[in-house]
Amino acid sequence: MLLRLKKYNLNVVYNKGSSLYIADTLSRASLSTTSQNSSNEYIFASIEQIDEAEWVPYMSQPRIQQIKDLTNKDEHLQTLKTTILTGWPESRSEIPVAISDYWNFRVEITVQDGVIFKNSRVVIPKALRPEMLTRIHSSHLGTDSCIRKARDSLFWPNMSTDIKEHISKCSLCNEIQPKQQQEPLMSHDVPNQPWSKLGVDIFTLNKQNYLVTVDYFSDFFELDVLQDTSASTVISCLKQHFSRHGIPDTVISDNGPQFSSKEFHTFACEWEFEHSTSSPYHSQSNGKAESAVKIAKKLVKKANRNNSDVWKAVLDWRITPTIDMNSSPVQRLMSWRTRHSLQTTSTLLQPEIAKDVHDKLQMKRRKSKLNYDRHAKELPKLQNGQKVRMSPLPTDQQKRWQFGTCSEILGKRSYIIDCDGKKYRRNRRDIRPTNEHKPSTKRLLMSI
Ligand SMILES: [Zn+2]
Repeated sequence: MLLRLKKYNLNVVYNKGSSLYIADTLSRASLSTTSQNSSNEYIFASIEQIDEAEWVPYMSQPRIQQIKDLTNKDEHLQTLKTTILTGWPESRSEIPVAISDYWNFRVEITVQDGVIFKNSRVVIPKALRPEMLTRIHSSHLGTDSCIRKARDSLFWPNMSTDIKEHISKCSLCNEIQPKQQQEPLMSHDVPNQPWSKLGVDIFTLNKQNYLVTVDYFSDFFELDVLQDTSASTVISCLKQHFSRHGIPDTVISDNGPQFSSKEFHTFACEWEFEHSTSSPYHSQSNGKAESAVKIAKKLVKKANRNNSDVWKAVLDWRITPTIDMNSSPVQRLMSWRTRHSLQTTSTLLQPEIAKDVHDKLQMKRRKSKLNYDRHAKELPKLQNGQKVRMSPLPTDQQKRWQFGTCSEILGKRSYIIDCDGKKYRRNRRDIRPTNEHKPSTKRLLMSI
């Protein structure tokens, strides 16, 4: 009641109890024609003069006039107006279908000087809705803000849905978007034996390139100082590791030129291992190599800073028992402890197979997945031919989400996106579906 009364400018007048009508009498009491300017008559006259249109925020008189004219031309609103003025029927089934959307609000709907109101919100005729949508979204605020803004003064059935739909097609908003939420962690299968699944990655530190080859089972990594980052140099390093530890079943890498080269493909075929690559700009899927790179980088950095031997640091890391594992990377890979400066007894150098590695690894995996998935949600799958926006490429200074079409589904979360004839392989997290058909770049440039 307080909210409804807000639009009126009330004068509260104190009347003695004895001069008040009791409710029943009041409802029947007609105005006295003889006692002019009596306080009751004044109140009734004031109520009649209240013009809702005066209380509509943001609306100029020409706009109100436009709404009036279009309301008169709007077939549905004319039916609604007639129903309001003649009275609503007893049941919903008795009203014309065209205005059935208004049934639930019937007590809130009024007609004032040719304009229909739902409380203090103007009911917008159909012809004016597209223009209103544009005005609501003129500052390109987010969907919720636009809905809140519109609900302040405008009304038409399903207005929120129309606003959402309108914004989902806005090129500018589609181009400038925040990152998408993370998806549940997709862990690689835990391998059953050492050196079966490897991750490889290249990193650069102080202009020097390094290759990291890490074993998924043991966390043991090989570190190579690279002369260059060509495919042949990388292959040569890997061949040496494979001759030492054996050929793995699977090698996972990113899409760097050396790994996506024909030479590397031939190497994988000849040495008979499976080579799989992660989506470019989505290093997370090569997480094992990423974390080994972090460790290696730190070791190299500290050794350089301290002017100490980096290989000793690598040895130390390899023989240090891993948290929650009761064994060191080298033990898990080679089933014995390699000799180091802290070794006290020769019995420690006897071969010994690290126990329960697979189970412990799985437990660790489960724990980190649980942790990660707390803030993650699965994104819906995309279809071939679906219109999308893909997250800004690292080279794009303007950080625009580019418009494109999903042209191929490569894996569970990997897609090929066609942007103006160019094809990009992207992870699902970097792709947002869009309702746009084709963005109007011309208007967009103007609005920027
Ligand atoms: Zn927008």
